[in-house]
Amino acid sequence: MEYCLSEEQKEIQKLVRAIAEEKILPVRAELDEKEEFPREIMQILAAADMFRVFIPEEYEGLGGGCLDLCLVVEELSRVCSAVGVSYAAVALGITPLLQNGTAEQKRKYLPDVASGKKLAAFAVTESTAGSDISAIKTTARQEKDGYVLNGTKQFITNGGEADLYTVIALTDKTKGARGASTILVEKDTPGFSFGRKEKKMGIRASATRELVFEDCLVPRENLIGREGMGFIITMHLFNYTRPGIAAQAVGVAQGALEAAVAYARERVQFGHPIISLQAIQHMLADMATQVEAARALTYAAARTVDSGAKNFSAESAMAKVFASDVAMKVTTDAIQIFGGLGYMRDYPIEKMFRDAKITQIYEGTNQVLRNAIALELWKRK
Ligand SMILES: Cc1cc2nc3c(=O)[nH]c(=O)nc-3n(C[C@H](O)[C@H](O)[C@H](O)COP(=O)(O)OP(=O)(O)OC[C@H]3O[C@@H](n4cnc5c(N)ncnc54)[C@H](O)[C@@H]3O)c2cc1C
Repeated sequence: MEYCLSEEQKEIQKLVRAIAEEKILPVRAELDEKEEFPREIMQILAAADMFRVFIPEEYEGLGGGCLDLCLVVEELSRVCSAVGVSYAAVALGITPLLQNGTAEQKRKYLPDVASGKKLAAFAVTESTAGSDISAIKTTARQEKDGYVLNGTKQFITNGGEADLYTVIALTDKTKGARGASTILVEKDTPGFSFGRKEKKMGIRASATRELVFEDCLVPRENLIGREGMGFIITMHLFNYTRPGIAAQAVGVAQGALEAAVAYARERVQFGHPIISLQAIQHMLADMATQVEAARALTYAAARTVDSGAKNFSAESAMAKVFASDVAMKVTTDAIQIFGGLGYMRDYPIEKMFRDAKITQIYEGTNQVLRNAIALELWKRK
């Protein structure tokens, strides 16, 4: 399929594919088994300027947009989704600052993110606030010297590994959803620690951890945007980053498709390679069609985001829902094509199947996003 990518975008794709094949492929099973954060790979990506992709040029970035970010995430996830999401979570963590920060805040933080010196994370979820983020309880009490944070965030990607945390907390408990604000917390701030590290089904090499705030004093100048904008910033952020989750899903589905085709060519039963069986051919044909459709929708959604359109919530949700459902279907069918071996941990397919599942859950579950798409259909004229 021709996606009319620019020469620069094709270069990015090529470079990330080479890194993924040469540096990630040989270690992905071990990282998954040990549930080890891919620190070295992050350094390799930094050395290749990949963290510059989503940062504006004036802050030492390459000035790319949502589509450029998607291309990197897709290529990483084709080989290992855990690396893909660890990279994507840096963009997630820093985008509120990119979109709402002051020039001074951007000058202070963005160059270090662009160089890969500092990783970032975004934290809204709590044990009682998942799909319903308005139920958060973490508070940021205003004091003379700044904001004092108290509360616990759950399931935070890059938790413990990142240096910068964009945290949504209530600056005014009486105002409900309008009382939430966005506050940047640096890793070594006193009163900020890390709780439970989750043991996950998939994307095991990514870090998913609790953030614990106990009378954690953060300078007033770390407020991003205005007080009360926390949920608006979060909604806008997810609309921007959901194509990235779609790209993660496309990447893992592409990886599973390629592995299934290669295996079907080699595996001989009844005297012929199983790819000669029409039952297998039809499965592969459907898988390839679904992956391409998911990619086309993902790139189209990313381009809509980059076009400067005002409202792209439905487009971005559609890409995430469709691509993640495709990833689940394609990785399931890939296991079927591998037969019994697909069920064994010696082969990458079972990891891809485990890794695919999360794309239906985070950054808005597919049920919640279907609600959002339907609401837009209802509202838009
Ligand atoms: C590995 C991992 C990494 C994560 N990383 C981050 C991160 O970096 N930062 C962060 O802030 N959060 C993160 N999360 C949190 C993630 O975004 C939430 O888990 C997700 O939004 C769902 O919330 P929940 O788990 O509480 O499920 P719930 O909201 O409790 O949902 C349970 C079920 O009910 C359904 N449901 C809920 N409400 C509705 C509704 N209105 N209509 C229809 N169905 C509904 C859901 O679809 C789901 O099937 C991460 C989670 C995981 C598992």
